[in-house]
Amino acid sequence: MSKFYNGIMGLVVGDALGVPVEFRKRDTYEVKDMIGFGTYNQKPGTWSDDSSLTLATVESMGRIGKVEPMDIMKNFLDWLEDDWFTPCGEVFDVGGTTRRAIIRFSKGTDPLDCGSKSRMDNGNGALMRILPVAMLPDNSDKQTQILNVAHLTHAHFISDFACIIYTAIVENLMKGNLNDVAVLTGIQHYKEQLDNVSMLSEFKRLEQIEWLERNFVKSSGYVVDTLEAALWCFLNTKTYRDCVLTAVNLGEDTDTVAAVAGGLAGIYYGVGGETGIPESWIKQIARKDWIRKICDAVQFWDDSSR
Ligand SMILES: [Mg+2]
Repeated sequence: MSKFYNGIMGLVVGDALGVPVEFRKRDTYEVKDMIGFGTYNQKPGTWSDDSSLTLATVESMGRIGKVEPMDIMKNFLDWLEDDWFTPCGEVFDVGGTTRRAIIRFSKGTDPLDCGSKSRMDNGNGALMRILPVAMLPDNSDKQTQILNVAHLTHAHFISDFACIIYTAIVENLMKGNLNDVAVLTGIQHYKEQLDNVSMLSEFKRLEQIEWLERNFVKSSGYVVDTLEAALWCFLNTKTYRDCVLTAVNLGEDTDTVAAVAGGLAGIYYGVGGETGIPESWIKQIARKDWIRKICDAVQFWDDSSR
């Protein structure tokens, strides 16, 4: 199995684990296994918008062999209007910023101008679906590709920077770095901006994220909180299973924190064995064979990263 598939399945499984308890308050419940129902009354293994938009991106990349924002956005529109890329034929959750961007596209706006640039629109809706592009090998176009795909729905500097830092960490993991090295060097790569750009001061806490006490880790839908929470879970656990369950049990935006953390943990721990994504969880994932197929179709990076 490729690291690309491991990352995508890691994201999808994390999302599905979090769906039944989305919006629940921390420590009012404990998830220990794949469960169903709850917040959206869905079967176990049902994934949400995080995975739908990620998989819509993967499908486009595999079908046309490149990152093409217009084609990805058409898939997003098919998702919102016609329930494509859904687990069971129904969109049951969509973020406000994302919905407004896709509606702008349906009315003729250029896809790269659809994402909001407002300070208020810094939810995690771009971060949660950037993984497939982040896993591509580094090249001179990479940062432009990341920002173009992010800007389909979210175009504020803070959301952009969260996607850029996440991408640096993903690249380090794809190269086989240890988890703490991957995270810390990924953050330190941008140290100069973090130190000097006042709008990025909120990201400064990332440099010490591993040592933060759980009480101080927020798990809201604000993109900086989501990134912090996901990295905290990834650095403070030693298996895929513990990483995503820790994320789900932080409460609030459970599915997205677990999806963002699960993408990293999927790349790092792989599938099966003592530490990888449990096969018993993958078995329960809706449309798992289709997910495998569209991941296998994405083959345009060098084989050393697979
Ligand atoms: Mg969701």
